[in-house]
Amino acid sequence: MKKLLIILDPAHGEETPGKRSPDGRHREYKWSRERCEQIEILLKAYGYTVVWSNTTDKEIGLTKRVQAANALAKQYPDLIPLMVSLHNNAAGDGSNWMQASGIEVFTSVGRTTSDIFADFVLKQLKEWFPEAKHRYSKDEYLERDKESNFTVLTGNYSAMLVEFLFQDNKDDVALLEDQTVNKRFEDSIVSGIEECNNYVLTKLTK
Ligand SMILES: [Zn+2]
Repeated sequence: MKKLLIILDPAHGEETPGKRSPDGRHREYKWSRERCEQIEILLKAYGYTVVWSNTTDKEIGLTKRVQAANALAKQYPDLIPLMVSLHNNAAGDGSNWMQASGIEVFTSVGRTTSDIFADFVLKQLKEWFPEAKHRYSKDEYLERDKESNFTVLTGNYSAMLVEFLFQDNKDDVALLEDQTVNKRFEDSIVSGIEECNNYVLTKLTK
């Protein structure tokens, strides 16, 4: 039995302004939901309980996502809730192609279990995407994640927000349209979650 409850948090909604490539080809809300769907299939095959903070294509509101996730966490008192929010980054306002590239992961401010979980996921992202720019806060244990009190990271659960590549960088958008890259991303997230679950199990048996 897996000990983690995975709360998938798909990015934004189809009506959210911006959140696309400057040429409109890439849509962040759609990319995120497709990745969440595939990750859910993999996680369920591994025996995880998987729920979503927002099951619609629309933005229900960040506070509503937190309320939904808190309620779901309460429904599974025997599991440790971990929210994984999947996004694409942007350097500009979406009207021009920019140069910034790479991968980063956010947790809430302060040293929490989320930092430990984020470190496992960051390690996997580095292994599965050695060629990418890894935008670490600092390349030291538990310091690699960036910290910000994004609303979805502030609920009664551990949480991380993954910013995978930049939707206003031409090379990154080409990667985001490559299904082998997306598959690799899904596998890296699942591998990271497996490491988080193993960590929880070792803590529980101590
Ligand atoms: Zn986003």
